[in-house]
Amino acid sequence: MKGLSIRPGSAVFVDRDGTLNQDSGYVTSPDQLVLFPGVPQAIARLNQLGVLVLMVTNQSAIGRGMMTMEDLTNIHGRLAALIRPYGARIDGIFSCPHLPQDDCGCRKPKRGLIDQAVDRFSLDLSKCYLVGDKRSDLEVAQKVAVPGVLVMTSPYSKGALQARDEGQVAIEHVAETFAQAVDWIEQHLMKGVT
Ligand SMILES: [Zn+2]
Repeated sequence: MKGLSIRPGSAVFVDRDGTLNQDSGYVTSPDQLVLFPGVPQAIARLNQLGVLVLMVTNQSAIGRGMMTMEDLTNIHGRLAALIRPYGARIDGIFSCPHLPQDDCGCRKPKRGLIDQAVDRFSLDLSKCYLVGDKRSDLEVAQKVAVPGVLVMTSPYSKGALQARDEGQVAIEHVAETFAQAVDWIEQHLMKGVT
């Protein structure tokens, strides 16, 4: 695959709800997935830059019995179908199905999903980024020492900013939209910082 060879070990971890699509409670069926404008094009741009696009998402609706793993697979099938016409693809999906009280190692802000991705794709975290809308996303980024980009596209975004202002979490960059987050990552990559 062309993308894999250009920037080996490099990936952008992308949250799902509130980052790629509207966060209007639990998405439990494919028709509830509504992408934000510009998202397919921005993912395509990352694909062209040769970085892996890896989705990392907490999906406790499974643990809550609100949907099955098969439902989640179908939702992600729709996501793939929605972005495909733009030449965009997501290279890997890592989901935590557990409840907060399960105390698993993979529910963000824990780092388990990132570690799974590193193992599967032989990633070099010094060449990776993370984009998300929630404090828990930025906490993961900080934990694994990758630049975290906050998008202001969900009801949770302001809480993450507030946590930053209170010194509780570091945020490398704040972007209004996912497309602008990708702008920043592109400039960062082109400067050869990573
Ligand atoms: Zn988990």
